[in-house]
Amino acid sequence: MGDRLKDKIAVVSGAGSVGPGWGNGKAAAVLFAREGASVFAVDVNPGAAEETRAIIEQQGGECTAHRTDVSRSDEVERMVECCLETYGRVDILHNNVGIVDVGGCVETSEESWDRVMDVNLKSMFLTCKYVLPHMEHQGGGSIVNVSSIASLRWLGVPYVSYSASKGAVNQLTQSVALQYAEKNIRVNAILPGFINTPMVAKSLAEFYAGGDVEKMVEVRDRACPMGKMGDAWDVAYAALFLSSDEAKYITGTELVVDGGLTCKVV
Ligand code: NAD
Repeated sequence: MGDRLKDKIAVVSGAGSVGPGWGNGKAAAVLFAREGASVFAVDVNPGAAEETRAIIEQQGGECTAHRTDVSRSDEVERMVECCLETYGRVDILHNNVGIVDVGGCVETSEESWDRVMDVNLKSMFLTCKYVLPHMEHQGGGSIVNVSSIASLRWLGVPYVSYSASKGAVNQLTQSVALQYAEKNIRVNAILPGFINTPMVAKSLAEFYAGGDVEKMVEVRDRACPMGKMGDAWDVAYAALFLSSDEAKYITGTELVVDGGLTCKVV
């Protein structure tokens, strides 16, 4: 066990995974615990949060699993209360939840647009709304919002609601970071590139390769300058750094974790 987050209380949203393997939030939750944090693992799927809790406890860490839909105000308010009842404070808020629905303006239904905006963007507004007063009262904290390089670039997939929601996440990050800079609350965004997580297999294989996951992985690997997609640990280590006191003078930044993909033209 390390001590980079010793004695910190970390809320991780989307701390499970939509399928077998490692999602970004699951890896972050496990890594935070390995580095000494007590993790409040939040997921809309209670089984997924429980699985993460079991992994953390097996490894000797501390974790509480909690079911919350972070797009719902009443549930988020209750989630923060439960974390305070359990651990007494919140030092780290890791806003990891995000969903994808493929489609451009014509193909995307209004319901789908609203759902993606609620889950990807409103959720971060809500968690900040209920966590910030406590961080302010405590004298500081760190918030990391998981965005995407889709907030900066066309990535070959027409997911207009996803790209727009992640662009807004970047601006939400800067806005909250500047408002709370003097209060010792740091707010940063991570912009992952192509990362091989269960969500990608579930949401994008159909678009890339008619549902053939192996073929999709091949296509996405080939597009990456390093010849391979990243994995959930690449994103988790960036989150660990930004959440820790090692990043005490970093706020309002967008940390790209993409193996050089956004530098590439052809
Ligand atoms: P994942 O699907 O493996 O894990 C996300 C978890 O969030 C799941 O356990 C799911 O149950 C949970 N969740 C979904 N909706 C929720 C809600 N309303 N309330 C609470 N929990 C909810 O996902 P992932 O691929 O690890 O992605 C995590 C984040 O990384 C997302 O924000 C995503 O946009 C971002 N990201 C991923 C990639 C990639 O290539 N995988 C690239 C860029 C950004």
